[in-house]
Amino acid sequence: MSPTHCPECRQPGRLVERITVKAMLRPTALARLSAPEHRFCPTAECPVVYFGMAEVFEREDVVVPVFQKERAGQRTVCYCFAVTEADLRREIAETGRSTATTVITQHVKAGRCACEVKNPQGRCCLGEVASATREAMAEAEGVASGAAAS
Ligand SMILES: [Zn+2]
Repeated sequence: MSPTHCPECRQPGRLVERITVKAMLRPTALARLSAPEHRFCPTAECPVVYFGMAEVFEREDVVVPVFQKERAGQRTVCYCFAVTEADLRREIAETGRSTATTVITQHVKAGRCACEVKNPQGRCCLGEVASATREAMAEAEGVASGAAAS
């Protein structure tokens, strides 16, 4: 039986496709891939990215920084189209709004997403884009009201 909870942080992980694990592992990590299935650990403080039967792969084993495990601010939010938190903030600062969700949704509808091989969590980034956008908007509003008050 494959473990359902991360051996490090004891939190439940979500099953990911094998192609995702293969695409995301560095060559030395890929060379020791053996478990039949893997789960993604989303816990921010936990170094484990994928775990399977008697096997774990950590952040250093993965070719890209993992959104869930990086500090907020400069993270890549959409791996397919390389949208970063900095991009979200820049657009909001310039225009007061963010078009990222709309643009990415259009790409998804057009069948251009490659989440299963580009995003470490192996699924669409729209949830993360929405939360990062909310954070960036709140931050921009905080800066604006702070400036008005001083
Ligand atoms: Zn974990």
